[in-house]
Amino acid sequence: MRDILSYEDERFEIRTLKSGAGRGVFALVQFKPGQLVMEIHGQLIDEEGYSSLYCMDLGEGRVLEPGVPGALVNHSCDPNCQLVDLGNETLGLEALVNIEPGRELTYNYGWTADVKPQACYCGSPRCLGYIIAPKELPKLLKKIKKKKKKKAKKKK
Ligand SMILES: [Zn+2]
Repeated sequence: MRDILSYEDERFEIRTLKSGAGRGVFALVQFKPGQLVMEIHGQLIDEEGYSSLYCMDLGEGRVLEPGVPGALVNHSCDPNCQLVDLGNETLGLEALVNIEPGRELTYNYGWTADVKPQACYCGSPRCLGYIIAPKELPKLLKKIKKKKKKKAKKKK
């Protein structure tokens, strides 16, 4: 397999995060709100119940297993990009705000409460504490509370 860090594009760059928490994709040029930052290509998987760390839901039971660099764009609760459907089974990242060169590209993964709760370390003042779609947060918190209760009962 090709070393993913050798991926080259003049518009963005893959860097190891200072926090040591893996890698991220950083803008090398300016992106304006509404501008398409990148197309996300990958492997289309048409398998019910398929799930992976990076997969993106295309609806109708199909998911896209993105290639690099799409797979390395991190989640943020206060993102500067959003995922858009470009049709033809292609997704894209669109800038939500003005993105200056050197900024890390992020989008909200928009996970539902059905996935295993995953703590978020995006560092945004608006961080929800979990990687989750904002509208799914109440459901997720309920689920976590329930789980804790179950654990507490077991201890007795
Ligand atoms: Zn967060």
